[in-house]
Amino acid sequence: MRVIDLYSDTKTTPTDTMRAAMARAEVGDEQADEDPTTRALCDRVSAELGYPSAVFMPSGTMCNLVATLVHTRPGDELIADAESHICTTEAAGAAAIAGAAVNPIRTADGVFTADECRAAIRAPGRTAPRSAMVCIEQTTNFSGGAIWPLDTLRQVRDVALDAGLRTHIDGARLLNASCATGIAPRTYTEGWDSAWIDFTKGLGCPVGAVLCGSESFVRDAWVWKYRLGGAMRQSGVLAAAALHALDHHVERLADDHANARLLVERLEAEPYFSFSAVKPATNLILFSLRGLSVDADQFVRHATQAGVRIRALPNGKLRATTHLGVTTDDIACAAAILIATAWRYAA
Ligand SMILES: *Cc1c(COP(=O)(O)O)cnc(C)c1O
Repeated sequence: MRVIDLYSDTKTTPTDTMRAAMARAEVGDEQADEDPTTRALCDRVSAELGYPSAVFMPSGTMCNLVATLVHTRPGDELIADAESHICTTEAAGAAAIAGAAVNPIRTADGVFTADECRAAIRAPGRTAPRSAMVCIEQTTNFSGGAIWPLDTLRQVRDVALDAGLRTHIDGARLLNASCATGIAPRTYTEGWDSAWIDFTKGLGCPVGAVLCGSESFVRDAWVWKYRLGGAMRQSGVLAAAALHALDHHVERLADDHANARLLVERLEAEPYFSFSAVKPATNLILFSLRGLSVDADQFVRHATQAGVRIRALPNGKLRATTHLGVTTDDIACAAAILIATAWRYAA
């Protein structure tokens, strides 16, 4: 039986045309900056995000870690939403490797205000940790897939910059936000010290993320990438997939967003699913169960057996994700299966 996999937008596999583009890639030694395809990718992403320079990374997790290593010193504090990936899902790399403590802000949807950011920044002194960095996610992930409104983003940036902090955008799904709002990626990232996009989420590549910043930021980032074992050789094979995705998989993110809306519409018509936090703005759908005799983990097990894989998050919510591996027909089918699963356990 085929399982419709809505667990994550990382579950995509490279398309045949992407594989063909990878096979054709011109390559060289990336560690020596001699891979032409990787250079083309970095040039393209840095231009689209409005930065002078960029570096190709194996993963978004390494982008966040390397940015933290560049922006902070051991003992410094970084400010981020409590449910953010950097706080919850990076094995405390910021603490373990960069020596940075996290000062989490609790929010309903992953978006904090300039006032909340100001309150989290500590007054300089002998005894307090030094507030060094603010990190936001566009779009938010585990707290609900919200899009940061541009004015909130700018106000938070200005509060951080005024206090002398470095600013970082985890743009794992920045292009989803841009696709949904029509606001250019470089408009969102304007004035932020660093930002990255992931190629292994909605863009459907097997590996890779690109981290952008100033020339000096990227020089420092390169040293950390090397130290962490992230330097590559003929990475053009991977960069070619990313360039292919920029050409062919960006506009179609709108299809994922429409599929997410369809799934919500179908589920919302039933009393068993509640979408209290945020309605899906993009491709992430967070919801909870109500009036069922199963908990989130059990529901996920039963749904998977019935043919739809979704994810129970540690915070008790369920997450479904649309991506290029699922069609509108799959979504209609997935909705029917999730509803039938709920009916089985209706109290
Ligand atoms: C997936 C994700 C990451 C990490 O990216 P990887 O490429 O999987 O390492 C970081 N932040 C957010 C918001 C993510 O969704």
